[in-house]
Amino acid sequence: MKYRVIKGTKDILPVETAAWQHVESVVRRTMHLFGYREIRTPIFEQTGLFARSIGELTDIVSKEMYSFLDRSKESVTLRPEGTAAALRAYIENSLGEQSPLTKLYYIGPMFRQERPQAGRLRQFHQFGAEAIGSPSPLIDVEMMLLAVEIYRSLGIDKFSLKINSVGCEQCRPRYKEILIAALKNIESQLSPDSRMRIDQNPLRVLDSKDEHDRLLTAGAPLIKDYLCGDCKKHFETLISLLDSLALPYEVDGRLVRGLDYYTKTAFEISSAMLGSQDALAGGGRYDLLVEELGGKRTPGIGFAAGIERLMMVLEKSGTHSFTVPPPDLFFVALDDHARRWSFGKTYELRRSGISAEIDYLARSIKAQMREANRQSARYVLVVGEAELASRTGKLKNMKTGEETEVTLDALNIPR
Ligand code: AMP
Repeated sequence: MKYRVIKGTKDILPVETAAWQHVESVVRRTMHLFGYREIRTPIFEQTGLFARSIGELTDIVSKEMYSFLDRSKESVTLRPEGTAAALRAYIENSLGEQSPLTKLYYIGPMFRQERPQAGRLRQFHQFGAEAIGSPSPLIDVEMMLLAVEIYRSLGIDKFSLKINSVGCEQCRPRYKEILIAALKNIESQLSPDSRMRIDQNPLRVLDSKDEHDRLLTAGAPLIKDYLCGDCKKHFETLISLLDSLALPYEVDGRLVRGLDYYTKTAFEISSAMLGSQDALAGGGRYDLLVEELGGKRTPGIGFAAGIERLMMVLEKSGTHSFTVPPPDLFFVALDDHARRWSFGKTYELRRSGISAEIDYLARSIKAQMREANRQSARYVLVVGEAELASRTGKLKNMKTGEETEVTLDALNIPR
């Protein structure tokens, strides 16, 4: 083989696309039901947009972005996530002036140069939503309900929702100092990755996947005990709303998420059916981000969900059997003349919404019948000299074997 798919990327083959289309249609339907409208932004953006929003010190920006200089020597980056671009478009097109609350969603590929493993790709797909304009915890809960509703509509009801507050620019700096001091005490025992993060991104040390790190930091100070009045009130309201809706959740004081722009609410949805990469979706509030990117100070919240991981859960739970409908009719042509006639007829039928197929390989009658079976055609019509002369033929129902006499010039395929 001369060329192969690039490491960490995958073909989505025809046998899989029906399931993808189904997921996408459920996503769209649910997003519309919740009042979100689709936005499609370019696949690549100026590198600075991501560096500024996601944060220079995050894993994504420091080591995972596909960035390159284009021919005019401008640094561009294949988008590693959807929020930054959606907000850039929101600001650039003054969407906030059209309505005080802008609800957007997107579906599409994202790119991160991570170490490929099960559930972790370099080109993967996400759907996500952003609600820009409201500081209310009500919209935080709407975001969680929206994500959960999509999973439920797809038949997935075993997942866990974890929530936390990561504070804001008022309370987080003080907490960071306290956390750094605590981490310095155990620095020499931490994993190299966590050691590196102490000064730059200390909150991430708390969600280290390293078991030893987790044990060492079990008693580390948690941000929930250092929230300012505003963040505390926001978080308490959020919890009371979730309780009133009977939406099961768990408060996870160590949940910090990998992107710097979050303020207050952070949440993650995970599935026990996945392996070590068990996160299905993650989101949070980003009240400073619009301003950071050059817009007016505007609160916002969003989430993003991985489609490949969702597919893995659907596959494991056996809910994964979507197929494209088979052809309504397969013509079995007995000679070239009949083949030409059938060819014209397939076009005519397709134009009236009936999916018709013929054999393009000049195969024997037996092979054509086999092909009709392979494609699970609903009906077969054998056409030869006699049929063309009499303008009639026998339409065979492939399920029942029953044959009905039909007129070739007014072909009617039962639905
Ligand atoms: P994030 O944008 O990092 O918050 O990720 C949101 C969701 O996208 C995760 O919960 C995963 O389901 C999915 N995801 C993130 N990175 C990858 C990846 N490299 N490969 C596949 N799915 C991913």
